[in-house]
Amino acid sequence: MVQIKTPEQIAKMREAGLVVAAIHDATRKAAVPGATTKDLDEVARKVIADHGAKSNFLGYGGFPATICTSVNEVVVHGIPDEATVLKDGDIISIDCGAIVDGWHGDAAYTAFVGSGHAPELLELSRVTEESMWAGIAAMKNGNRLIDVSRAIETYIRRQPRPATGKYGIIEDYGGHGIGTEMHMDPHLLNYVSRKRGKGPKLVPGFCLAIEPMVSLGTPHTEVLSDDWTVITTDGTWSSHWEHSVALTEEGPLVLTAHDGGKAKLAELGITAAPDPSSRP
Ligand code: MG
Ligand code: MG
Repeated sequence: MVQIKTPEQIAKMREAGLVVAAIHDATRKAAVPGATTKDLDEVARKVIADHGAKSNFLGYGGFPATICTSVNEVVVHGIPDEATVLKDGDIISIDCGAIVDGWHGDAAYTAFVGSGHAPELLELSRVTEESMWAGIAAMKNGNRLIDVSRAIETYIRRQPRPATGKYGIIEDYGGHGIGTEMHMDPHLLNYVSRKRGKGPKLVPGFCLAIEPMVSLGTPHTEVLSDDWTVITTDGTWSSHWEHSVALTEEGPLVLTAHDGGKAKLAELGITAAPDPSSRP
């Protein structure tokens, strides 16, 4: 069953989304050489507290931190700690969320630590981020869930291949419905699977966290002995981008983007839904 939200509920989710956007701003500034991933977690914890929000990551299934910090070959679910010191040339994916009045937001981005990254790493992050936007652009009334999966996969497959061979679209993890829980039905694959149907129809009030994960090699992953950290099986580095998105009568609203997705969607020829947080 998919939870369909009213405009008032979407406005609440927008509040949670703006807290997530603020965490992104603060952690992006703090992700510099010499910082530990624990430092970033503390930055995030403070932003959530300053907004009077709650963390949906801390304690989730026993997860011990406020954000996931996934460095280089770590795909997702890296645990912040004092031992992981960011170095010039690293890439880090930071995934985090917040709850406001029971409504959840969830979003992730990949950042470059320091400078001098190889062009293929810059391109990996660009392709992953743009594939997320292609998925967001497919959030149209009357489309099916599979149209979002197809848009993400098609975008990635149409890009020039990296020197490492080809992009690996991570298969073991994907996007999800979001609302009164962080993870709700339906599960969203980042590729088209013949084993799955077309999925539910997208209608106003449908909310999805869209989150492609892409590696410079394999689509396959394994989980380390801490039961959380997910790495690529071939050790290639990976990128993760995510936004929580609500479909409304007036189109998509990117809940976790400061501008509601307005600028980026305009580039793609789509008008973002009006932002309830900026209404008088
Ligand atoms: Mg997330
Ligand atoms: Mg998510």
